[in-house]
Amino acid sequence: MLREVESLAELRTELEKRGRTIGFVPTMGALHRGHQALMERARQETDVVVVSIFVNPTQFGPGEDFDRYPRTREADLELCRQVNADLVWFPRVEELYPAGCQSWIEVQELGERFEGESRPGHFRGVATVVGKLFNAVKPSRAYFGEKDLQQLLLVRQMVRDLLFDLEVVGVPTAREASGLALSSRNSYLTSQERDQAALLYRSLLRVRDSHLSGVRQAKELKKVFLDSISGLECEIERLDLLHPRLERSYEGGEEVDAGYCSVALRFGKVRLIDNIALCS
Ligand code: AMP
Repeated sequence: MLREVESLAELRTELEKRGRTIGFVPTMGALHRGHQALMERARQETDVVVVSIFVNPTQFGPGEDFDRYPRTREADLELCRQVNADLVWFPRVEELYPAGCQSWIEVQELGERFEGESRPGHFRGVATVVGKLFNAVKPSRAYFGEKDLQQLLLVRQMVRDLLFDLEVVGVPTAREASGLALSSRNSYLTSQERDQAALLYRSLLRVRDSHLSGVRQAKELKKVFLDSISGLECEIERLDLLHPRLERSYEGGEEVDAGYCSVALRFGKVRLIDNIALCS
């Protein structure tokens, strides 16, 4: 039976009762099939599945969508029941960020590049909250989506650097039939924007196919993407060909052997990210 807790004390009591291996899925709620895939994987691999739902204020920048981020508690609980999760934790903001709180986790370099450059302070907020959640839940495994590629690699780096005793598991991106990556933010899109946004993934597939058929120069691969989305009413905020460990991006005539094509697009006020792996 699904248990719902809010306070840290309740969380600890519940976890102590259960013991055994804990699979943890941290989320911001407005749960969809992408989150479901993470929970199902946790269900397969661990004894106790814990989901946290917390819209973390410190990872939103000024002018971002913290206030209007969708909050759908009842529907979220229903989805957790469907996948047979054991515990849903709705952390209280005053417990995660006690008054006078002064400690932060910063993953340098990786936290500042790419998405970090577009969203200053974002990854500091992510690493800090994930570190706190790990300390509270003490999972054996934690599940993160490949859709948020840089976040996944950043959490792995943090776990290595700070000796967290857990395994970080990456889960492939769940998509709509159109190819659009599922995201809580898709609810902001009009149906016309949603149709258009589907071209984002089709364009990433074109980049992958071109790469497979021998197009290797970074600028050529970018051109494939740009040609494919030309005509779309959106702003390209970021288009990067990334090193497999996200150590750097490939530029100009540099050859991309393996890595990722990663992109952030804006449809009106809605910012969408996606990526595709390029294999040698
Ligand atoms: P969020 O609630 O957006 O913070 O996401 C919580 C977790 O779900 C993160 O690890 C995300 O990467 C993951 N996630 C979000 N969307 C998807 C998706 N379409 N497929 C797989 N994982 C996802």
